[in-house]
Amino acid sequence: MKIHEYQAKQVLSQFGVPIPRGELASNPYEVYDIASRLGGSVVVKAQIHAGGRGKGGGVKVASTPAEAEEIAAAMFGMTLVTHQTGPEGRTVRRVLIEEALPIKKEYYLGIVVDRGTQKPVIMVSPSGGMDIEKVAAETPHLIFKEFVDPGVPLQSYVLRKLAFKLGLTGELLGPTTKTIAALYRAFEAVDASLVEINPFLLTETQKVYALDAKMNFDDNALYRHKDLLSLRDFHEEDPLEIEASRYGLSYIRLDGNIGCMVNGAGLAMATMDIIKLTGGNPANFLDVGGGATVEQVRNAFKIILGDQNVNAVLINIFGGIMRCDIVASGVVEAAKSIGVNIPVVVRLEGTNVEKGQEILQNSGLKFTVADGMKDAAEKVVALAK
Ligand code: ADP
Ligand code: MG
Repeated sequence: MKIHEYQAKQVLSQFGVPIPRGELASNPYEVYDIASRLGGSVVVKAQIHAGGRGKGGGVKVASTPAEAEEIAAAMFGMTLVTHQTGPEGRTVRRVLIEEALPIKKEYYLGIVVDRGTQKPVIMVSPSGGMDIEKVAAETPHLIFKEFVDPGVPLQSYVLRKLAFKLGLTGELLGPTTKTIAALYRAFEAVDASLVEINPFLLTETQKVYALDAKMNFDDNALYRHKDLLSLRDFHEEDPLEIEASRYGLSYIRLDGNIGCMVNGAGLAMATMDIIKLTGGNPANFLDVGGGATVEQVRNAFKIILGDQNVNAVLINIFGGIMRCDIVASGVVEAAKSIGVNIPVVVRLEGTNVEKGQEILQNSGLKFTVADGMKDAAEKVVALAK
């Protein structure tokens, strides 16, 4: 689960991360009052679940409340396109109005789970700001990493080492190590998969702040954080993915045209691979799960067909725990109730495969039955063209 910058800042400030003063506006009419309350120059920041807003025109400075209102009025409802949104962009529904701080230097702080070492890794860079991707690509030696043993409290020498790498010493050592420690506490406490502060700001007045904040949560741990669920913004998520999660299906939408219904994540990955290898493009990853029912298959079918880009479907099921006849019944029922008018290729293997094929053949519907994965991929790729 992802959340907005203003929400991440609220969560992080509870753990002691210093943030600028600011308020959220849901319409342009609130902006004047908020800007007046903050006083001085303010920054108007579009709230979408994607970074790169600054370069895309989603972060703007205003020197008066009237100017802030004018900027916000243009921002509300606009489609903001950044390098992280894809070409379709995102609609701006809310803006954060924040005090404009005098920038001396921008740094980078981030924590993610490193799968290779199975440890959280704290990353810092003295070259933070809007070009951090360029820093990572061209001067990776300017990004410093410390891997943390999750079983041991974060050691203060590690914090000091990171602050020294940033060159934040003397009177800035304390505030910097405190911020990194707070960030790590937050990361652990809410089961985040990522927290990122870019930029971590040093002001002309020798203070440090989290000027931007990004936070992603581990969905598998969300059951432990019921209070965080209210931070979810359904506007920022794909409607088909929301529906799939309601049915307990693992579904990720992609940009191809071949819908895939598969059981098991490994088989789903292999299916997408073989479609690609055969010259096609998968429209989704979909794992209906090991013990899916007729109902689940029907839901999965509905979701695949709900994607306008899909013009052929490949059903690739290995009947282990899930029996092939159940899958076949689900597919037939779903196809009849939804009314499928695009080609469907079915490859079944495993428990009760003969029974399953019989159900498909006697259904009166036109399925293309495939013999093995390669055959299935070739058939569906040809039909999708
Ligand atoms: P994004 O990463 O999506 O581009 P940021 O929140 O990092 O958005 O803002 C982009 C840039 O705008 C920052 O690197 C910083 O230079 C400037 N900025 C953002 N918030 C403030 C603020 N409160 N005061 C001064 N400058 C700001
Ligand atoms: Mg940023």
